[in-house]
Amino acid sequence: MSTALLLVEDDQAIAQFLQRALAADGRYQLEWQASGATAQVALRQRRNHGKQPYAAVLLDLGLPDRDGLELVPWFRKESPETVLMILSARGQEADKVQALQSGADDYLTKPFTLAELLARLHAHLRRSGVSLQQGPLQVGNWTLADQTRCLHIGEREISLTSKEYQLMRVLLRNAGAVLPHQRILSAVWGPAHADQTHYLRIYMQKLREKIEPDPNQPQYLTTEVGVGYRLVIASDLTDPLQKP
Ligand code: CA
Repeated sequence: MSTALLLVEDDQAIAQFLQRALAADGRYQLEWQASGATAQVALRQRRNHGKQPYAAVLLDLGLPDRDGLELVPWFRKESPETVLMILSARGQEADKVQALQSGADDYLTKPFTLAELLARLHAHLRRSGVSLQQGPLQVGNWTLADQTRCLHIGEREISLTSKEYQLMRVLLRNAGAVLPHQRILSAVWGPAHADQTHYLRIYMQKLREKIEPDPNQPQYLTTEVGVGYRLVIASDLTDPLQKP
């Protein structure tokens, strides 16, 4: 079970980046609302449907319909167990003090790094008793287990190195879709390495040698020339390496 988080942010580029980054991390499911009003509805609906409250809310202050600072006490009152982190371009002391005094747990000033956000988020969640269990990822008859870093394709068991595992996790989460080089690189090596396409060539070859019946004629991990890669898992495709 992944941990549900709510992002309240009107900047689409930031929202999409965080959604991809947190999906690649694998432990979180990030829901996104672009205004204060829709975020309030989402939080209430979640409770009305009997779901676990969001483990954390990531709140921007400069929202189109109101100042995020006004929402801090509301979130605190509505969902006392939720970790509330402010992500804002406003770095003034007065805003930070007001946010923290009215119930926010943390305040990150933009631009922040993904590593810092994740580190602080993990620390808050750990302290609030949320255990981040990363369940096995399953697509068709492919299963990727995080404890053992083993990929199962049907009965076949393939052990992966740490980087191969991270790469496979991104591919499997996006099975069927063409993944641009930059997106894979950002997710696995970080945005600073988004241009290092030679990393990908090396690691994709390693993966192919492990998963493909014929690494020179890949049928699972295909190259999309000039764009990126795609993991093809057809449900009717029988794994030729598998014993019947
Ligand atoms: Ca904003």
